[in-house]
Amino acid sequence: MEYKKREKPTELEVLEVLDARMQLSEKDKQHLYKLKKGYEGELAFDELTRNLRCDCLALNDLLLQVGSTTFQIDTLLIADMLYLFEVKNHEGDFYFENDRILTKTNYEITNPMNQISRSESLLRQLLQTLSVTTQINSSVVFINPAFTLYQAPLDKPFILPTQVNRHMKQLNSLNSRITKKHKAFADKLVSMHLTESPFKRLPDYSYGELRKGVVCRGCGSWNMINKWTNCICMHCNKVVDFEETVLRSIQEFKLLFPNRKLTTKEIYDWCGGIASLRTFSRVLEKNFNKLGNRRWTYFE
Ligand SMILES: [Zn+2]
Repeated sequence: MEYKKREKPTELEVLEVLDARMQLSEKDKQHLYKLKKGYEGELAFDELTRNLRCDCLALNDLLLQVGSTTFQIDTLLIADMLYLFEVKNHEGDFYFENDRILTKTNYEITNPMNQISRSESLLRQLLQTLSVTTQINSSVVFINPAFTLYQAPLDKPFILPTQVNRHMKQLNSLNSRITKKHKAFADKLVSMHLTESPFKRLPDYSYGELRKGVVCRGCGSWNMINKWTNCICMHCNKVVDFEETVLRSIQEFKLLFPNRKLTTKEIYDWCGGIASLRTFSRVLEKNFNKLGNRRWTYFE
């Protein structure tokens, strides 16, 4: 059973919003692509663990700390022992040589074995501090069906795309029993989960340089107009609820500028003035707490 759900990484969310509102450098674009791809792979694996019928608890995405060292776990399955998974969504042809994974053009990708051994060893240390003794079974799952690894070593805990289903079947046949003790342990780990990742790598951005307006979720056009309680895309004719659109824009605004005060003028400007100040004020008053007064009014 899914005990902890995976959240979309803030870094990915921020980059997606920035990508729409400014010109990202090639490097940032690649980083965004990598994060997106990684997240999609993890979601695909969550789908598989969610369907497991054996008695188990799946903790998806844990960011933990032991001493002053932070480590991240893609998936931790609590069953008869701990199953630690590192999920990789690489696509294409790769080959394994001298403990390295390379593309056909000799471009090297990070060897997930290093990542998983590090996570395993730190998890072991963490278990010690919690006085929990259990075995840990670690593996790297290559989830993308279009991934091929030539010269794949037999002695590494790799689960290749063609082996994923068989592996899930094996887990299904486990004779595990989840007790209160397991649940308490899972709760403990969830409570230790850090929400702010220290690994964020974001480009510099400022309010002034970002494109203002409302973007159509259907076609990506910025040509949206407000009509009564709706927003209409002038490019693909998609109709969406105005309030919902404004609230989504406010979410983006708060995500990018957590320290900026939310005011009617600010949101009016952020949304490219697609409706009157009064209309924006109504949405804010309905959904947020009004603080301060008159020209100093802001919302939280
Ligand atoms: Zn559209």
